[in-house]
Amino acid sequence: MSCEKCAKTGTDHSVPRRPRRRAEAADPVAGGQSGLSRLSPLPLLALFLTACTQQPRIDPQLASEIEKIKAIDNHAHPVRPGNPPDTDFDALPVEHLDPYSEPIRTRADSPIVAEARQKMQNVDKSNSAAVLDALGIDVMLANRVTMSPPVTEPRFRFVGYVDALMYPLDNTPMMKDPDKKAFFPLEEALLKRYYPDPKPATLDDYLDKVVRPVLEAHKKSGAIAEKFEMAYLRALDVGNPSKQDAEKAYLGEGAYKDLQDYIFRFIATECGRLGMAIHIHVCASAGAYFDIAGTNPILLEPLLHDPAMRKTNFVLLHGGWPFIGEITALLENPNVYTDFSEQTYNGYPREVSVNIRKWLEYEPEKVMFATDAYPFSKEIGWEEAGYIANKTGREALGLALTGMLRDEEINRDRAIQLARMVLRENARKLYNLN
Ligand SMILES: [Zn+2]
Repeated sequence: MSCEKCAKTGTDHSVPRRPRRRAEAADPVAGGQSGLSRLSPLPLLALFLTACTQQPRIDPQLASEIEKIKAIDNHAHPVRPGNPPDTDFDALPVEHLDPYSEPIRTRADSPIVAEARQKMQNVDKSNSAAVLDALGIDVMLANRVTMSPPVTEPRFRFVGYVDALMYPLDNTPMMKDPDKKAFFPLEEALLKRYYPDPKPATLDDYLDKVVRPVLEAHKKSGAIAEKFEMAYLRALDVGNPSKQDAEKAYLGEGAYKDLQDYIFRFIATECGRLGMAIHIHVCASAGAYFDIAGTNPILLEPLLHDPAMRKTNFVLLHGGWPFIGEITALLENPNVYTDFSEQTYNGYPREVSVNIRKWLEYEPEKVMFATDAYPFSKEIGWEEAGYIANKTGREALGLALTGMLRDEEINRDRAIQLARMVLRENARKLYNLN
C-alpha cells in the first residue's frame, strides 16, 4: 500500500518513477540556475510534475487505516481442512469446466501467486480462523453447500445454495455446451440431497415440501443469505410468470423457464420473510462457454424494480464485471447491494479502483469488500486466493479513496469512514452482525 511496502512486495513502480526521472533531468537547480524567480514556465511545470509524481500512490494515513480494519468478507468459499477432502465448498466447482483461458494475473507462474504462496506458507491451515487472522478478516461469509467444522460460526457465516431448487424437471434441453452438461447433473444430484423422495405431484406440494423446508433448514443452521449461481446455467432474465403457467410447466406442459422464474421469485420472497439476503453471481466468469450477455445485470431490472420484491435484499456479487456502469445505476434500488470480489483476484488494483470509485461516488452504503477466496488449484488454495484478493481489494479501495481525496471530493476523515463502511460496516448492517 505504501511505497515502501510495494517495493517489498514487488509492485511495479515504473509508472511513477519514469516521469520523476524525466522531471529531474529538467530540474533547473540541477542544471546550475539559481532560484525560482529565474525559471521559465516550462521548468516550473516540470517542478510541479515532480511534486505530483512524488506523492505516494495511496495516501499513507489512509493506507495504514485500511490495513488495520478487521474486515467482513461478503463472499468466499473456505474449504474445511483435513480428510476426507471437502467437496461442499461450491455447488458447481470450476474443475468440472472444459479448459479455458485463465487471466494472466493469476496463472500458476505469476508474481502475485508466488507472493501469496510465500506469505501463506507458515500459516496453520488446519486452523481456519488462523487463516482469517492472517488476512485481517474478522468474519467471512462462507458460500457452501453445508458448513463443516472448523469452518463454522462465529468467524464464518453460512450462505447456502439454492439453484438446484429451480431445476426439478428433465434438464437435458438446457445442456447446450460441455460446461452445462457437466453442471446440470451436479445440480440434479444436489436436489436429490435436499429431497431424496420422488418429485411431489404438484407445484404447490413441491414448494411446500421441498423449497420452503430447504430455506428454513438453511436458516436454522445459521444462513444469513442464499446464493444463486444461475449465470453459469442460464441468463439472469427472471420474468414474472403467472402461477397457472408455472403449474403447467411443472407438469411438463408449458415453458420450463416459467417454472424456473416462478421458483426464483418464490425463493426470493421467502428469503425476505426469513430475513436472508439473496446473493446472485453477476460477473463474466470461468468457463469457455460462459454466457457474458446473459450475465448483464440490467436483465435483473424488472425483478429488482418489482414492488413485490422490496422486502428482500439482493447482493449482486462480483460487481457485475464488465458491466460496472449498469451496477452503479442499479444501486439506486434501496434493496440492491454489490461487492467487488472476483475482480480483486483477476484484476490489478488500479482497474478495480476505477470500478469501486464509481460506486463510492454514488451509493457508498451499498458497496462491500469480498475476496471470493476459492480453491482454484494445487498452487492456489482458498488461503492463497484470499491473500491475493484481500491485498488487491484493500489496495484498490485505497487508490479509489485517495483519488477522491486528491480531487477534493472528500476529506481524509470521510475517506477513512468510507473505508470502514466498505470493509466492515455496510455488511454488518445488512446482515445484522454484531
Ligand atoms: Zn464465489
